[in-house]
Amino acid sequence: MIKAIVFDFNRTLFNPDEGALEEGAVGILEELSKKFLLGLLSKKGEGNRLELFNELGIRKFFKVVKVVEEKNEAIFMECVRELGVEPRETLAVGDQIKKDVKYSKALGCTTVWFRKGKFAEIVPENAGEEPDYTIRDLRELPSVVRSLSSDNGLV
Ligand SMILES: [Mg+2]
Repeated sequence: MIKAIVFDFNRTLFNPDEGALEEGAVGILEELSKKFLLGLLSKKGEGNRLELFNELGIRKFFKVVKVVEEKNEAIFMECVRELGVEPRETLAVGDQIKKDVKYSKALGCTTVWFRKGKFAEIVPENAGEEPDYTIRDLRELPSVVRSLSSDNGLV
């Protein structure tokens, strides 16, 4: 059963080319935060990420927020642990196969690849990089989550 969702920030919730959140992001986070514990795992970027999360009005949806130098398996595990769940109870959503999907999958998380933008053509090269789900629009995420929940008999 999925209890938590860990989001990537850049090019997943936020489109840096447009300097804005992805279409529908706030509504999706608001809905999901009512049923799931949400985590935000972001690589350091230009400017102050934590301030940006507040300015964008999304900080409040997350139980755990981490801004890190580099992502790796251990960082994902820390995030999962701080959410108080197990990897198998966690859905990880990100745009990079070689980072978001690979590291979270190695831990045992269920993975969603947001295949859009700069990294859309960097595809899985082995089983450890295969996402469980692929979406092209963030607004597809709620239906993925619903299908996961109904698989568990929750609906
Ligand atoms: Mg990203």
